[in-house]
Parts: sequence; C-alpha cells; structure tokens
Amino acid sequence: MDHPQRRHVDAAEKVVESVETRCCVVGAGPAGALLALILARNGVPVCLLEAHEDFDRDFRGDTLHPSAMEIIDELGLADALLRLRHTKIRKANLMTGAGAVVAAEFKRLKTRFPYITMMPQAHFIEFLVAEAKRYADFELRLGARVEELIEESGGVRGVRYRDGDDGWHEVRSALTVGADGRGSRVRHLSGLDAGTLKTSPPIDVLWFRLPRAPGDPEGFIGRIGAGHAVVMLDRLDEWQIGYIIFKGTYQQVRAAGLDALKKSFAETAPEYAERVAHLKEWKQVSMLSVESSRLKTWYRAGLLLIGDAAHIMSPVGGVGINYAIQDAAAAANVLVEPLRRGNVTNEQLRRVQRERELPTRIIQTIQTFIQRRVLAGVLGSRQTVAVPFLIRLLLRTPILRDLPARFIAFGFRPAHMRPELRGK
Ligand SMILES: Cc1cc2nc3c(=O)[nH]c(=O)nc-3n(C[C@H](O)[C@H](O)[C@H](O)COP(=O)(O)OP(=O)(O)OC[C@H]3O[C@@H](n4cnc5c(N)ncnc54)[C@H](O)[C@@H]3O)c2cc1C
Repeated sequence: MDHPQRRHVDAAEKVVESVETRCCVVGAGPAGALLALILARNGVPVCLLEAHEDFDRDFRGDTLHPSAMEIIDELGLADALLRLRHTKIRKANLMTGAGAVVAAEFKRLKTRFPYITMMPQAHFIEFLVAEAKRYADFELRLGARVEELIEESGGVRGVRYRDGDDGWHEVRSALTVGADGRGSRVRHLSGLDAGTLKTSPPIDVLWFRLPRAPGDPEGFIGRIGAGHAVVMLDRLDEWQIGYIIFKGTYQQVRAAGLDALKKSFAETAPEYAERVAHLKEWKQVSMLSVESSRLKTWYRAGLLLIGDAAHIMSPVGGVGINYAIQDAAAAANVLVEPLRRGNVTNEQLRRVQRERELPTRIIQTIQTFIQRRVLAGVLGSRQTVAVPFLIRLLLRTPILRDLPARFIAFGFRPAHMRPELRGK
C-alpha cells in the first residue's frame, strides 16, 4: 500500500503543503475516528483532520449502547475499552410525581453488553485514536479546520484547511468523508444540505453539572414534574443534568433568573435539591438547540457524509453516538475493498446510504413522537403527568416489557462488521 506522500508547494502560492492519501476523513468524533481506525488497520492510507487541538468537548454524549459495543467487540477492542473508567446503566428509571416506572431494563438483552456503557466521549475517542496510531497508514492532524473542498472534473478530490499563519494545506484523496458533526462545513460546501429533511423538535435542553455523592444511583435518572422534565446522566464524579425546555424559550428562562431554574430543578428532583447550590452563574449552563434532520442524499462523486453530518440526531434516547458508530462500520464494510484499489464509485456510496438511511429514519420518527407527544405534553402541563396505565401494563408484560430496552439498545437493523474486517 502506498503511504501519504508530501509535495511542498511554493510558499508564495495559496497552498503551502499538499498531501496525497486514499481517504481523507474530516472530523474526529465517534464516526470519523472509528472509520479512520478501521480503514488504517485494513491497509487503506487515511488522513483524519480535526478542527480542535484535543477531543475534549463540553456536554457531549457519553453513551455507548450495546449496538456500538458489539461493533467495538467485533473489532477485538471491547475488553481494552472496558478497562477504562466507566459506569453502566442497567435500567432507565423514570420518576414521576405519580410513582416510579422502569422504562427500560437492559439486563435481559441477549448480548455480551446488557447495559449502556457511560464513558466520557473524549476518553473513547482518545482510545480509538491511540489504537489507530499503531498503523502506519494512519495520520492524524489536529487543529485542522477544513474550509474548502477541492473539486475537479465534477467530483470532490480532497479538502483544504488553514493552519494558523502558516497558510493553506490541502489533502488530496480518492474519497473524502465528512464526519464533521451537526454544523458540518463539508455538508454545506458540498451543496448536499439543499436536500435536508427537518423534523422541527419542540424542545431545547439546558445542560449543567452537579456533584455526585457516595450512595447515588449509577447510570440514568429521568424525572418528570409538573411542567418540567429533567434527565440526569452519571458522569463518574458528577451528574450531567439535562433540563428540558420548550424550543425558543431560553431567553425567558434566563430572564426569570438562575434562582427560578434552581427552584424548578429542586422541585422536580427533590433528593438532589441541596446540590443545586453548586450552580452559581449562567456560565455553568449550556444551551443545546435540539435539532433533528437528515439529508436526502449523503454522497457525491468522491464524497460521503456520515454521522451527524448526514443526519443530526436529537438527544432523545442518547443514540447519536451509536448511529455515528454504526455509520462508520457500514461505510467501512462497503468501502475498504474499493479504497484499497483506489477507486470508489457512486453506487458504492449509495450502498452506504441505503444501509443506514432506514434505521436512521425509524429512530428519528420515534424521537419525534416522544418529543411531540410526551415531552411537549409534560412541559405544557400544570400538573404532574402520570405514565398512562396501558404503558405501565406493557412495561410489566413479559413478552412486551423488553421492547423499549431492545429498541434503545439496538434500534432497527443494527450494523455489524463484515467477518473479514473483524478481530486483530
Ligand atoms: C449537548 C449534547 C449532548 C448529547 N448527548 C448525547 C448522548 O447522551 N448520547 C448520544 O449518543 N449522543 C448524544 N449527543 C449527540 C452526539 O454527540 C452526536 O450524535 C455524535 O457525537 C455524532 O458523532 P459524529 O462523529 O457524527 O460528530 P461529532 O461527534 O459532532 O464530531 C464531529 C467532529 O468534527 C470536528 N469538526 C467540525 N467541523 C470541522 C471542520 N470544518 N474541520 C475539521 N473538523 C471539524 C468537530 O470538532 C468534532 O470533533 C449529544 C449532542 C450534544 C450536542
């Protein structure tokens, strides 16, 4: 296999460095980092470009569902990953003023990983990148914010990024993969965002952190109070709190003051009321504008979009990382061979979209239902909302009760690694 070759261009020109590789992956989130790792270990020269200097992002998802863990396991990496510090969500408890409900219990699922692994996303990405660095075909460039696509003869032939004062760098490749997340620059530059299908979620989320204490339950807590909904995610030493509000009402919540937010949280999760004193200023609160959309077409000649770049995921169910990971696995399954040969066709890129589009559509439809029918209903109510009798019955009926857990864990038609790409 050929290795990236460098040809330095005259500094007076716009481009000061030009690198050739087989696949240029833009964005080292879960999708980009995993795809780059699988390609590199299968002999495909790959250059992974990441805009930031590290992998630490504030308020990101930390969840690895069984579907994602099975892919990591198929790559032979699950045991090493699970040696990193993590916690496990074995069931999702939903507390309402009218009592507690186990919304999903993972322990009965037929998998080596009957739980949701909670691990800081930065540690997970560092793990993938450290693994990828073992392969000579892998190159990582941090601080490389892509700003341009190289377009030639009607196709994408790579990207350009600027590096501080140094000037423009270009990475030329047979295939460019845009894995640069919800605000994808690559998607915008490619024009593929013209065909975006949006679902207009009615909610936004305010994120903040509170300390955990010895004896706190592990994992996930969901709380529903009168007009309020809160999720609490176990991040080892702290709780990451998601306080759900109606879309577009952030300024109103701010105008009401931090004390009003603290009071509302304390009423919704009374056992944690005293910890809210740690919230001292709005700087500690981060607003996530919840979006949910997917592209009609995920590819062009020489270019593929995966993960949030192709479909922005709502945080409902915490599945965004898993869909990003499954996209990476599905893309690798289809593209390793053509990339080894150095020639990827539109039909092969279409196959990747075909594999992943339906599972994405299904989960987004369910997320939309939960956002509109459940969460908006809770926020709009002045009274504590109880879980309907029929749902409570379903969650206690042996053959039906595992459906929510199974769907959260695996979704529809989960991706798996092709046998030839497993192990190692
Ligand atoms: C506040 C918040 C909470 C969330 N909670 C959860 C959760 O609990 N569970 C869950 O599964 N999902 C959650 N999600 C969603 C999840 O983070 C995403 O679905 C997932 O990270 C998508 O992975 P990705 O690899 O496609 O993109 P990202 O993880 O967004 O990674 C994209 C990468 O591309 C880089 N990048 C961007 N632009 C450029 C550029 N021009 N050049 C080079 N690099 C670039 C970024 O720096 C980033 O590292 C949450 C999202 C947010 C915002």
